[in-house]
Amino acid sequence: MSDNLLSYNKKLQKSIQKLKKENNTILFAHNYQRPEIQEICDWIGDSLYLAKKIKEIPAGTKIIYAAVKFMAETAAILNPKVSIYFPVPDALCPMAAFCTPEILKNYRKNNPGVPIVLYINSTSEAKSYCDVVCTSSNAVKICDKIRKEFNSAKIGFGPDKNLGNYVQKKLGIPVDILPENGHCYVHNRFNLKDFVNFNMDHPDAEIIVHPECTPEVVSAANFVGSTAAMYNYVIENPDKEFGIGTEIGLIDRIKREYPNIKVHPLSEKAVCYTMKKYSLEAIEDCLKNLDNKEYIIKISDELREKTLKPVEKMFELMEK
Ligand code: 13P
Ligand code: SF4
Repeated sequence: MSDNLLSYNKKLQKSIQKLKKENNTILFAHNYQRPEIQEICDWIGDSLYLAKKIKEIPAGTKIIYAAVKFMAETAAILNPKVSIYFPVPDALCPMAAFCTPEILKNYRKNNPGVPIVLYINSTSEAKSYCDVVCTSSNAVKICDKIRKEFNSAKIGFGPDKNLGNYVQKKLGIPVDILPENGHCYVHNRFNLKDFVNFNMDHPDAEIIVHPECTPEVVSAANFVGSTAAMYNYVIENPDKEFGIGTEIGLIDRIKREYPNIKVHPLSEKAVCYTMKKYSLEAIEDCLKNLDNKEYIIKISDELREKTLKPVEKMFELMEK
């Protein structure tokens, strides 16, 4: 980063910190956010961590949610007593768009008694038609528990075919993917050539990947987990070297917090452009315009009630 850009960012960060304090506002950020945003956020983590954390935030708090829209909407559904600001309305996860309510209604009609699990990377409308939500941290456990509760031989799972395949392999049960081709363009592009290229430069490194990667990539990796699970695995093994197969924001976070641990992106091309739509400028603008209702996530009471059920079901099954 050039010196000019660095000092520009520092100025913006200072202004944001001041505005946050004056307006009693908190900044949540997903692990894939830009480093300059990670540096000044109050809470950072994977989807599950952020969803748990939001439930603890006191009523009336203003939160700027630096992530993609489904994450901000889930936060608003879980804690309607806080205001969730999302000033970058086109920061959408493309994977979430794959699974529509129609696909789920149709599947339900043709598969009575089969539980439907939706990955949290889905729209609020789609979630309202499923039985339980899961994240990449708990997908295997949630799918196992709900199948047993429904006493069903199989499950329906959407929208990520790769996470669905991972669950199928781990549990040894049939999983119908809804729809068949749902995927994340960032993770789906990793391939075995990336392993070969990476190993040439880092022959001693372990390769760890997100379960949104393809089955061949998942099979070839030394460890598979959510962004939080990969983060924990790395910091618990500080003497090892790692190639990380996920969005580069997670590598930025580990490098900043643990500069002595050797971590490298498995591919430099793994960039989620919608996560990166958030900028310091957008956050500063939001803080200067907190009375702009357009920035606040709005969920109708009816949709909230329908969507909260499968999200709370996830928390219930995690405790079992
Ligand atoms: P995590 O919940 O593992 O952070 O994953 C979120 C995501 O969008 C992965 O692409
Ligand atoms: Fe969606 Fe993939 Fe971006 Fe995650 S990395 S938010 S799944 S597009």
